[in-house]
Order: sequence, then structure tokens, then C-alpha cells
Amino acid sequence: MVYIPPLNTEIRRLIAAAGPMPVAQYMSLCLTDPHHGYYVTRDPIGAAGDFVTAPEISQMFGELIGLWAASTWRQMGAPANVRLVELGPGRGTMMRDALRAAQVVPEFNAAAVVHLVEISPVLQRLQQQTLAGISTPVFWHSSLEEVPAGPAIILANEFFDALPVHQAVKQPDGWHERKIAIDRNGNLIFIIAPEPVPHFEGILPPQVRAEPNNSIFEWRTDHVAMEIGRRIARANGAALIIDYGHAESAAGDTFQAVGHHAFADPLAAPGMADLSAHVDFQALAEAASGMGVSVYGPIEQSELLERLGINTRADTLKAGASRSDVVAIELALQRLIGHGRTAMGTLFKAIAFADPKVGVPPGFER
Ligand code: SAH
Repeated sequence: MVYIPPLNTEIRRLIAAAGPMPVAQYMSLCLTDPHHGYYVTRDPIGAAGDFVTAPEISQMFGELIGLWAASTWRQMGAPANVRLVELGPGRGTMMRDALRAAQVVPEFNAAAVVHLVEISPVLQRLQQQTLAGISTPVFWHSSLEEVPAGPAIILANEFFDALPVHQAVKQPDGWHERKIAIDRNGNLIFIIAPEPVPHFEGILPPQVRAEPNNSIFEWRTDHVAMEIGRRIARANGAALIIDYGHAESAAGDTFQAVGHHAFADPLAAPGMADLSAHVDFQALAEAASGMGVSVYGPIEQSELLERLGINTRADTLKAGASRSDVVAIELALQRLIGHGRTAMGTLFKAIAFADPKVGVPPGFER
């Protein structure tokens, strides 16, 4: 048998051999290392896991996304074949609820083939179980590039926040990459690279360039957003991306760890806690629009769900429910569209990309 060292050991070995590690490389190893990565080795979602996502809070979320997809397909000219793609489908709950709700447009369900992009074998198995009963064909891929070309509707909820993020810290002589090193006592610590990143100011939006020293700026590679844009602009289609983050690029350290529903130290237990960082919607929009798509939003999650009819849907569900279920539906609704600190309505945002011929996607009308 081949001995595979634990991730903590592996990360220390890499740092000892190659020097301090960029935050993005650390995040990538922690989340998706093929042996020990957080997502690769477990189902982190739900009450017993580390965090709860919108589709797990209520069936209403996936149902409204399903209706969004069916209406968008009509706006696309109802192509006879459409790839219904989801990036990072978690337990498969959103897709199951979406397909059930979209049965009100049978022609859409008949045209759709589901393509799930999922890196985790554990979650792929769960998705298989969740979607076992449905008649729509389902295929799995480990990257968007593997999904066949053609008209597509691409969905992603809480996917981009899990993609590796780089950090740079402003110093008097420029922006220096933030990295992870080992201190004298053997602990993982953050450090600032001695040399500034060359030409970094050139990629910064003006509002970030003006920030004071010690400000942190986070960025991701744009390849997924560009690949979405490229597909949609060439082959007819639209994308709906929902995540937590900021509408405009801004300075700030949002790299965080969450374990058992509480914030934790991101360096404490590599591979054992969920790592994420806020999504920069301005950067996403710029990457996709560079490929020729029209961009709509970002708007707040509450706005999208209200425009798609979540209040009516909640009333319908409540009409046939027991008293305790009515309370549960109301609580779920408040978590999804409420504006408080523990609710998702404001922090979470939605952005849509579409082939310019498709017009304004549902929920994004001004
Ligand atoms: N959309 C789901 C799950 C969100 S968690 C929900 O809302 O419940 C993030 C999901 O993205 C998980 O399914 C995780 O395994 C997947 N994922 C993370 N990084 C990925 C990558 N680089 N490629 C493909 N899938 C990835």
C-alpha cells in the first residue's frame, strides 16, 4: 500500500521545499486535494455538517431556479436540446427541486439533459442518490470544459466562493502577495512576500488602488467565468450565479474557515474545515462580458427570489401545511430573503449572463 501523508504534513513539506505558499494554493490543497481535500472526503452540507445552503433550507429555492431555467429556455427560442449545467451541485437538492418544478413546462424537461460539474466523489454519489428517480438523463464531469458544447443554461449556487483566492497586501512600495509559512514553533502563519507583485496596480480597479497601506485585496483566476461567457456567447444560453460577496471590487480580508457552523482559524486544521472567500461580482462580470455576453445584476438574493414569486410559493405551501410546518416555512422564507445578519437576503447576490439575443433573464428586469 502506498503511504499518503496527512495534508498538514504534506503542506509543511511543500513549504519546506519550495518556500511560503500562496493563499490560493493552500486553499486549493485544503479543499480539493485528491486524497485529503475537504470536499473530496466528506459531505459538509446540512445540520450535521459544517454549513447549510439555500437549497437545503427550503425546496422553494430550487423550485424557483427551475422555473427560472424553464422561462429562460423559452427566451432562448426553446431549443430542442439544452444542457442544464450545474457547477458544484452539493447534495443535488437544488437540481432535484428545479426539475420537479419545471415539469409545468414539459417541453423544457423533454429538451433538457443535466450535466453536473462536481469534483468530489462523495458528493457525486450523493447526487446520484438524490436524482435517482428522475427521467432526465444526468452526466457528471469534473470541469466545465468537459461539458459538450451547445445551447446551455448554467447554474451555480455557492460554487465560486469555494474557488481558490489569492491575497495581496498593500505596502509603501506596492502590493505584496500574502503567503503561508511555518514559524519557529512549527505553526502555519501568514506572511507577506518580500517583493511586490510586478505591475499589480494595473489590474486593480481605481477604488482599490486608493486604499491605505496594509489593505488586503483578493482575486481569483477568471477561467470559469470566462468559460461560461465563451459557451453562452457562442451557442445560445444563459447563466445564473448566486453566492455571497460584494457587488463591486473592494479591499478586505474575507478568507474564512467554517467548521460545525462556527468560524474557525483557516490555518488550524488544513483539509478539515470549509475554506471560502467572498465573491467579487465586478470581477466575474468583467470576465464574462469580455467574452461577449450581456451581464444582468448583481442584485440581492432577496430581490431575485421575490421577483420570481417566493412569497406566493410560500403561501401555497402554507395553505396545505400543519401549524408546525407553517412556522418552518416562514422561518425558511426569512432566512432566504431576510436582511438581518443571520439571513441570506442581502449578503447573497445573484448575477446573470446571457447571449445578447436572449434578452433580460427572469427576475433581472429593471
Ligand atoms: N451548490 C450546492 C453546494 C455548495 S458547496 C448547494 O448550494 O448546496 C460547493 C460545491 O462545489 C460542492 O459540491 C463542492 O464539492 C463543489 N466544488 C468545489 N470546488 C470545486 C471545483 N474546483 N470543481 C468542481 N466542483 C467543486
